[in-house]
Amino acid sequence: MLKNLTIEGTAKLLKDKKISAFEIANSYIKEIKESKKLNCFITISEEVAFDAAKKTDARISENKKIGLLDGVPLAYKDLFCTNNILTTASSKILSNFTPTYESTVTANCKSQGAVVLGKLNCDEFAMGSTNKTSFYGPVINPWKSSDKDDELVPGGSSGGSAAAVAADLCVASLGTDTGGSIRQPASFTGLVGLKPTYGRVSRWGTVAFASSLDQAGPISKTVEDAAILLEAISGHDNKDSTSSLKANEQFYANLNSSVKGLKIGVPKEYMSDDLPEEIQNFWNDGKKILAKNGAEIVEISLPSTSTALPAYYIIAPAEASSNLSRYDGVKYGLRVQEKNLIDMYESTRSEGFGNEVKRRIMIGTYVLSSGYYDAYYIKAQKIRSIIKNDFDSAFKNVDAIFTPATPNTAFPINREEVDPVQNYLNDIFTVPANLAGLPAISIPFGLDNSGLPIGMQLITNSFEEQMLLNIAKNLQDTLNFNVQPTQWWK
Ligand code: GLN
Repeated sequence: MLKNLTIEGTAKLLKDKKISAFEIANSYIKEIKESKKLNCFITISEEVAFDAAKKTDARISENKKIGLLDGVPLAYKDLFCTNNILTTASSKILSNFTPTYESTVTANCKSQGAVVLGKLNCDEFAMGSTNKTSFYGPVINPWKSSDKDDELVPGGSSGGSAAAVAADLCVASLGTDTGGSIRQPASFTGLVGLKPTYGRVSRWGTVAFASSLDQAGPISKTVEDAAILLEAISGHDNKDSTSSLKANEQFYANLNSSVKGLKIGVPKEYMSDDLPEEIQNFWNDGKKILAKNGAEIVEISLPSTSTALPAYYIIAPAEASSNLSRYDGVKYGLRVQEKNLIDMYESTRSEGFGNEVKRRIMIGTYVLSSGYYDAYYIKAQKIRSIIKNDFDSAFKNVDAIFTPATPNTAFPINREEVDPVQNYLNDIFTVPANLAGLPAISIPFGLDNSGLPIGMQLITNSFEEQMLLNIAKNLQDTLNFNVQPTQWWK
């Protein structure tokens, strides 16, 4: 098996003709089939993968120029529509949906020669932080704690996207992040996860959860790979009216690791006594590293931080309730036949959606209903503006913001769920960047005393992804975190 391969590493192997793209694809497909226990993949697109790999091999043998993604085995969260490949959003209601079109991000990867191994399990319609809301069952984190044998959640909603990379079932993956769904699972699995600036990456062809917050982004082993994938998927798209007109950038070629002279803010509101000591320690280590490498660490204030989570859990369900009204059994997806139309709608939606999705639809419908609209939805929107203003003020004085990515490490799948709010708290550090539309990255920092990965987060101003990646690279190169989970699942 090919262990710990990166996009950069794959490109080099192919360039040096050490191995063919077909052999690489074949090795990954075999590995995926032997690792079913982790439940990462909903669909394995073997034929499509082999076909693309053979095309890369042909280009190589004809001495044609090949790009960095050429022949690289990737896999996508099952939220990206893929032409002729089942796309379910991990929901029963889309369990029979095969799109006749390709999302812009996956089309971009395809046109650059990527080899698509399949579609990855996630929380249903990307709603969750555990991957337990999937119709296809939970994904299991390849990491286990050293002192207990419990199976752990990989985080969510892009749990399959993270677990698959951590378990070497693909070289890198794509996820989506509405409130933390790339960064939190990356943190739970010892990987790099990047949420781009809102508008940097087209949302066209990606199943919508909360349209004003959703962004696609990479989950990868290294910052370099994140830069390569971000570059591949970014750029203006006429098909998405919120897509930015900004020209695409060469994030990979321009990557450097200098933090000299940068001012990095540490928000005092992110510190609390509840934050586990080990996370605090890694956070402090990070501050020391950045200072030693030439950055200036300054304490800052983001006064409205505590209002972000409540505002998010009004805005996201409101948008979700509207987006999900399209699943009614009429045009595509599941249809539960009944004697009349209304009953058909009701039965289809009752059977097709899981509990978490129904909860969000109910909350969303409630906060948008007349009488409650001003009290909840409008108020949440006002809070969102205040949060954005907090960041705007902070970025007048600092170049980047450094925080923990999550308030805890991976927890057992069978943890007793007292109430949904317990899970919503996972997003406490990630949600503000979504509300403000800012780019943010989670980078692995080390293992806690039980041997579980801990990630830290960097946030920069809009469209400052290059700086974000550079600072992340500085930390990565200094920390040199290169531990992989032991393969207990085979
Ligand atoms: N965990 C958050 C939620 O459940 C975020 C999900 C996401 O980013 N897609 O809404």
